[in-house]
Amino acid sequence: MYVQDILAKAREGERITREEGIELYRHAELLDLAEAANEIRFRKNPGQQVTFVVDTNPNYSNVCTIDCIFCAFYRHPGEEGEYTYTVDHMIGKFKESAGHGVTTVLLQGGVHPSLPFDYYKELVRRTRKEVPEVFPHFFSTSEIIGMAHGAGMSTEQVLRELWDAGLRSLPGGGAEILSDRVKKKISRLKGTSADWAGVMKQAHRIGYKTTATMMYGHLENEEDVVEHLELVRQIQDEGNGFTAFIPWSFKPGNTPLEKIIPHYATPTRYLQMIAFSRLYLDNLPHIQASWFSEGKKTGQMALHFGADDFGGTLQEENVHAAANFVNTTSTEECVRLIHDAGFSAAQRTTLYEILRVIPTAEVAV
Ligand code: SF4
Repeated sequence: MYVQDILAKAREGERITREEGIELYRHAELLDLAEAANEIRFRKNPGQQVTFVVDTNPNYSNVCTIDCIFCAFYRHPGEEGEYTYTVDHMIGKFKESAGHGVTTVLLQGGVHPSLPFDYYKELVRRTRKEVPEVFPHFFSTSEIIGMAHGAGMSTEQVLRELWDAGLRSLPGGGAEILSDRVKKKISRLKGTSADWAGVMKQAHRIGYKTTATMMYGHLENEEDVVEHLELVRQIQDEGNGFTAFIPWSFKPGNTPLEKIIPHYATPTRYLQMIAFSRLYLDNLPHIQASWFSEGKKTGQMALHFGADDFGGTLQEENVHAAANFVNTTSTEECVRLIHDAGFSAAQRTTLYEILRVIPTAEVAV
């Protein structure tokens, strides 16, 4: 099938196949992808509104033994620079963030080899009780699998106990590229694509909402990208638990993988990824553009390539910072960037409920 036929099929709301996806990804013109993706974006999320969340992304520990070669963040147990914060310390941080208007805390570790499962449950329970202003969006699939190993439980049991403690939402971290060909090279000890999918499916069955993510721009090819999106689409068909798809590009600084891939993926590639994922993921409501990981201008442009969400304000971020990649914003600037891109801004919750629509007049200039 020719590229224009595949685009027409997607625009009509028909699902494109894996083979058609590969064809599209390899041969479609960027602006053709953008036009079709934008049409679908406005069909799924009508109106000139772009959402964002006021959030923070702290880490309770950087201790990890998984040795992903794309990661500059972790330290082995006992290594200089390792840290693990107490629950009291984290609750203090969350309270401070809540005081600055934060409504979502995206929290991840390392995969700590010896933290007791009670630590994680207490973290969730006390967050719900003592900082009800923030919604916990805690723990990647890798951490859930690590907790299960450590506690001698199944991942389903872990998810159920965290649910009972009050957790309702998980971030999509740990996916990277859902192609075992690549996973074996970049995160050998992290588990397979099926492991990530298994935890996500269990979580959705229990009632969790989660995001789906992708880190690209390293050793993957077009087929790996389509394999990733295909798996996300299949999981969504089963459980309808993904709120959004969030791609970002690999940041090489201070990572072992830097020796092979020393450069950032281009903004053009990012825009292609945003538009293509909107077309392929016909069952996901939201595609998230990132001012943070790709730069503010590229983030704004992505809103014209099929994305309908601008991500979070990220008051704290340590993982990209460890790779010498730092970018910051404020709620005011985030709103202004959305407005300047030609949209109205709406602050949302973790689960995409609208908290307030912000008219231009409210923004300080
Ligand atoms: S990406 Fe996560 S699991 Fe992998 S080494 Fe870094 S902290 Fe550990």
